[in-house]
Amino acid sequence: MNKGRVYLVGAGPGDPKLISVRGMEAIQKADVIVYDRLANPRLLKHRRPEAELIFVGKLPDKHILKQEEINQLLVDLALQGKVVTRLKGGDPSVFGRVGEEAELLADNDVIFDIIPGITSSIAVPTYAGIPVTHRDFTSSFAIITGHEYPNKTYSSLDWEHLAKAIGTMVFLMGVANLEQICRELIRCGKPPEMPVALVRWGTWADQETITGTLADITEKVREANFKSPAVIIVGEVVKLREKLAWIEKKPLFGRRVLVTRARSQASELVDLIDDMGGEAVEFPVIRLQPPSRPEAIQALDLALDKLHEFDWVLLTSVNGVEYFFRRLREKGIDVRKMGKARIAAVGPKTAEALAERGIIADVLPAKYQGEGILEAIQADLKAGQKVLLPTADLARDYMPAKLKDLGLEVTEVDVYENVLTTEDGDEIIHLLQNQSIHIITFTSSSTVTNLLEALRQLGVEEPLSLLQGVEIACIGPKTAETASQCGLPVTYMAEEATVASLVLSIAKHK
Ligand code: SAH
Repeated sequence: MNKGRVYLVGAGPGDPKLISVRGMEAIQKADVIVYDRLANPRLLKHRRPEAELIFVGKLPDKHILKQEEINQLLVDLALQGKVVTRLKGGDPSVFGRVGEEAELLADNDVIFDIIPGITSSIAVPTYAGIPVTHRDFTSSFAIITGHEYPNKTYSSLDWEHLAKAIGTMVFLMGVANLEQICRELIRCGKPPEMPVALVRWGTWADQETITGTLADITEKVREANFKSPAVIIVGEVVKLREKLAWIEKKPLFGRRVLVTRARSQASELVDLIDDMGGEAVEFPVIRLQPPSRPEAIQALDLALDKLHEFDWVLLTSVNGVEYFFRRLREKGIDVRKMGKARIAAVGPKTAEALAERGIIADVLPAKYQGEGILEAIQADLKAGQKVLLPTADLARDYMPAKLKDLGLEVTEVDVYENVLTTEDGDEIIHLLQNQSIHIITFTSSSTVTNLLEALRQLGVEEPLSLLQGVEIACIGPKTAETASQCGLPVTYMAEEATVASLVLSIAKHK
């Protein structure tokens, strides 16, 4: 039986978290994802690695694929046996032409689901602090097209009835016709002083709002050169914005922040940026993986075989813990084999990672950075003791040297290695070229060097000039030093080497 089917999914208004659970599941299941401009491309990272992507985006006046061609494409892909997810901005039924797509699927006996989305017509006003209804102002609202298209004339709207019957009016696709809309509404009895707001790129980092009245908004919009896509809201509820513009009060509102750390480690940083009202964009320039060099694997395994001989095991990162335990498990080695060793963690996160595995670190330095851990254990170190130091291929080397100076026998092994990746690079280059990235976060020296190298590999001849004007935020002095040496002046530096402190350092400067 043909397993081909189509999910017609509302992707929400922009903020990638405003998609439904069902919509997200459809992205995760798809063999092919067909998407357009208003669906946030950041949602695509949840796809299966082998999923095919087809952009059918409509840029104003420039249709990449005609609607009929999109309809047919969905049918063809499903008939080839593919699971197809069609992502549409907002809700697929609200001026989204889902009806046409679904009809052709039905005509061809293709199974389809229509998964609703959060429509921009309600969500975008909400993000600008304008609830579309309010007991004191209105008990009705309408979503109206502001677009004139050939087979359905603009004047077919019954302006007189609309103006009389409807409280809040929300116009989509109306920026170009704003003047006519305002004129018609005034002609049909709405007072010229009726408040109006336009919100463009609502729920994205580029969200901008302009307010006025039916009488003066057209002029204001022209002066500000305010462009689509925007939602137009006409009604008394617009006044509430003064008090309720909640997201604009957040410290990172309007700031798009690039996160360069490995995907597997990025979520905490992404969530913090998000929580402070910023828009995090992931561009992982590092991927972690188990060691690949045969000598490294051999050295690691040899050390693990002798795990019972060590007096100290020093863990210097959460990743170090993760990969160390992963290898123990792969080799079937019980953690009790290091029962006699004292275990030190470089900081609270590393200690937490150990605690998750049932090990309470014996030593936890008060101060961050590798130096802190040495200070914390120095009094207990005795010449001749054996220390195991599981690290990464790029780890800084002062620690083993220092330990050796103190007369200890150090075994340094790679438990993981960092490799460069350039995943999703084209989107990032596009954002950088448009000056749409405001801040870049670096959480290690290798994120700095890898970002520059990744851009070069993606064909950018002068990465530094592409990054000019972008603010640089570093997690600590070493990373900042690398950034400066590479020609990237540092704007923000975390007080403590944690991602929370990094985000705070940015937020404080608003
Ligand atoms: N199905 C979509 C609407 C498609 S029509 C939905 O439910 O949201 C496209 C119009 O939607 C745009 O011209 C603009 O008026 C509006 N729109 C969509 N996303 C928007 C956003 N993030 N900010 C402002 N307007 C948006």
